[in-house]
Amino acid sequence: MKLFERYPVSLTNSLTGKKEIFKAITPGFVGMYVCGPTVYNDVHLGNVRTFLTFDIVARYFRFLGYKVRYVRNITDVGHLENDADAGEDKIAKKARLEQLEPMEVVKYYTEGFHEVMRQFNILPPSIEPSATGHILEQINITQNLLDKGLAYVSNGSVYFNVRKYNQTHHYGILSGRNIEELMESGRDLENQDEKREKIDFALWKKASPYHIMRWPSPWGDGFPGWHIECTVMSTKYLGETFDIHGGGMDLKFPHHECEIAQGTAATGKPPVNYWLHSNMLTVNGQKMSKSLGNSFLPRELFAGTHPLLDKGYGPMAVRFFMLQSHYSSTLDFSNEALQAAEKGYKKLINALGLIKKMEAGPAPGKAETSAEFVRLSRDCYQTMSDDFNTAKTLAVLFEMAARINDLKSGNTKLTELDGTAFAEFKETYIGFMEAVLGLQEEKEQNDGTLKGTIDLLIDLRKKARTDKNFALSDKIRDDLKKLGIQVKDGKDGEMTYSFE
Ligand code: AMP
Ligand code: ZN
Repeated sequence: MKLFERYPVSLTNSLTGKKEIFKAITPGFVGMYVCGPTVYNDVHLGNVRTFLTFDIVARYFRFLGYKVRYVRNITDVGHLENDADAGEDKIAKKARLEQLEPMEVVKYYTEGFHEVMRQFNILPPSIEPSATGHILEQINITQNLLDKGLAYVSNGSVYFNVRKYNQTHHYGILSGRNIEELMESGRDLENQDEKREKIDFALWKKASPYHIMRWPSPWGDGFPGWHIECTVMSTKYLGETFDIHGGGMDLKFPHHECEIAQGTAATGKPPVNYWLHSNMLTVNGQKMSKSLGNSFLPRELFAGTHPLLDKGYGPMAVRFFMLQSHYSSTLDFSNEALQAAEKGYKKLINALGLIKKMEAGPAPGKAETSAEFVRLSRDCYQTMSDDFNTAKTLAVLFEMAARINDLKSGNTKLTELDGTAFAEFKETYIGFMEAVLGLQEEKEQNDGTLKGTIDLLIDLRKKARTDKNFALSDKIRDDLKKLGIQVKDGKDGEMTYSFE
């Protein structure tokens, strides 16, 4: 029996608002699409939370034995300011301000994004398509919607006709919004007069003469709308209807609502079976966002240079901090919460080091103790299969860590454990820590505490030299070398160090 049959996954489908048992379209295979970043600035910790949520989802499905095709795109054109249909393209604007080619902006921030994902041990997706690589497909689907009478051309742009679509379908099915209310509340934007109704959204935008990112189309030079990009890239690699679509909660409307409308209009089928939304990382209760000026960059966090922090934190402590809450709840960022998370993370990682070295013999052991160890192993699966409840899984792992410490101290003897019960326990602890939750030994280079400690030792070595205490100076250098830290002596007594 496959693990996914033994521990069926339930998830909260944003479409129905209910917890549902996941049923794959193709048995044993999960197709998942997640909206990737718009690569015009550095990713902040809020973005990291969302990508971490779906990293866990992909990891857990794989751990259960599913084959997972995880598609996460790069938005490199078409995302206009304020998520609206008017205003400047975010990437084109950055390129204009920095006097760069738009693709220079895209390359720079895509690499930065990948680096941050690596630091947090967020695994790469199976496919990472970019919007500019799929212009032809976007033109084709726009033409398809025009042919079906669900879109119209206006002044070289193409808009989706929401009212017409809503006559036969439900626009607002995901966000729960009411079309009449939306008509009333639509903001007055420039170019609004191009649209028949405020609620209509762009599939293709005409490029003004000075617009740098442009492609020829049947409607003149232009560029694709943001929503159509995701419809094209998800269905191209996952099929017209696929299993899971994810993203941050803030993308539900208009982005995902529009994806449902376009996809359904183009193929006659709903594009997605399960919509999953990750809740926001907040600071003092307010969504973390670049525009609100309350965002943290990962590097500020590692170095501890942000005014809200009293020291630097490594990516694994932050990863642990984020996993302590369920993905559907908001999570508030604070120095205190990070301090507590760092302690918790260290407890679990210490236990990981210990259990890796333990082996139980073939002794039959005590039935009661063995049963307890088996129950804890199964609880890990049960909590994760219950809507990816990482918070509850961590609570189980803490219980397991306490048992591991008991084994280490001798409070419980390995001989009290049945060999197979211990093997299951060990495999589960290691598997959930490493493969499912992606928690690993902190890479020390990123740890602000370590940097501070090395700086201190180097200062002491400088002092030893000034005092002509060469024995101590050499000892500090040699001992650091044994730890893999190479101290180099420069001119005028300067010292630098590097990790070997
Ligand atoms: P963007 O590049 O702004 O489109 O954002 C990339 C992803 O990060 C999207 O899925 C957003 O929903 C998500 N996101 C943005 N801000 C936050 C936040 N404060 N907390 C969690 N996720 C966020
Ligand atoms: Zn998207």
